Amino acid sequence: MTKTEFKPEQHKKYFRRSLELLPTESAVFDCSRLTILYFVLVGLDILDGLDLLTDEYKKDIIEWVYRLQLVPSETVPIYKCGFMGSTTVIHLQSHSGCEKYCESNVAMTYMALCVLITLGDDLSRVNKSAVLQGVASLQKADGSFKSNYEYGESDLRFVYCSLAVCIILNDLSGINVDKAVQFISNCFNYDGAFGQNPGTESHGGSTYCAIASLSLLNKLNDVLDNSKLKILERWAINRQTNGFQGRPNKEPDTCYSFWIGATLSIMGSLDKINKEENKDFVLNNANLLTGGFSKDMDSIPDPMHTCLSLCGLSLIGMKNLNPINPALNITVRATNHLKEIQN
Ligand SMILES: [Zn+2]
Repeated sequence: MTKTEFKPEQHKKYFRRSLELLPTESAVFDCSRLTILYFVLVGLDILDGLDLLTDEYKKDIIEWVYRLQLVPSETVPIYKCGFMGSTTVIHLQSHSGCEKYCESNVAMTYMALCVLITLGDDLSRVNKSAVLQGVASLQKADGSFKSNYEYGESDLRFVYCSLAVCIILNDLSGINVDKAVQFISNCFNYDGAFGQNPGTESHGGSTYCAIASLSLLNKLNDVLDNSKLKILERWAINRQTNGFQGRPNKEPDTCYSFWIGATLSIMGSLDKINKEENKDFVLNNANLLTGGFSKDMDSIPDPMHTCLSLCGLSLIGMKNLNPINPALNITVRATNHLKEIQN
């Protein structure tokens, strides 16, 4: 048995198990359980393993996701609408005592929609107008978006999630696209990549968010001329050691096979990397006993790194994996379903 063996059945079992049982370390994710669900289902879809879940089980998941939707009511103003990350309520200490915290988050809204699409739902129970108004209320004067209305930070991650939600719901009319594009372009650095906010260090994750956002808006070539695209391509290709790192001088991490791989894929430059070395790096971080992928040799597998490892492997054309849509990060199969329900 070679170390770089690929065992899709083990990874399917890992995902299936992760829907029921997670290690103690995962307790911190209780308030964003939707995130785990998203990575498990997209990962299973890439492995062509969604039939591991019975129709009844898929229906239960869809109902759970819809229960996370905040719709306008006496207690929920329109600007708080969207999806929450979990049914777990966060209690915040305030001067008036203990307050229940119940608010949507645009990253969770994006993942909720992706989960519903992946499971074949038609989004008919999504309160589209409330979700879109919720997203619109997150946009700041500089064009960026906050994660949530009250306490949210703002950066390229939430710009990407906000734009993806509008693209999935097929309506950009409530937001200022030009300002969002201007914000993205302000995050471009002299070294050729993007920071989370203007003037911050270039990073693989924020670079993906910028390029995927521009690609969803069909504005990649408007913002980046040929010379900028060339230095970005060089920056991204240079992140490969054997696998990919997120920033110069960092250790490689399996998730960057997706963040950098998808960036290069959107740019049409993926053939310029050493695919074999990347594949070996990712496969070496698979746990052949339990299934799942870890970020590096010193870590245990988790759903995020397992899903993004599979995304990275799919991008470089690994056999028997379903192709992904690099800009939306769902499978091409799920994207086709989305196109059908958009018509
Ligand atoms: Zn990582």
